[in-house]
Amino acid sequence: MSEFDLPVDNGGDPACWLQRVCRNCGALAEDEEQPTVCSRCGSTEFGD
Ligand SMILES: [Zn+2]
Repeated sequence: MSEFDLPVDNGGDPACWLQRVCRNCGALAEDEEQPTVCSRCGSTEFGD
């Protein structure tokens, strides 16, 4: 058994994608799990 096997949809947990949302422009980086630079505005600050 694993706690990672919980039957939830991708994106079901806001904490999963909040850290991928640019704090400057609000863009969601879908390509990377943990983006370092926003592809839209170049900000390096992401939600937490
Ligand atoms: Zn941005």
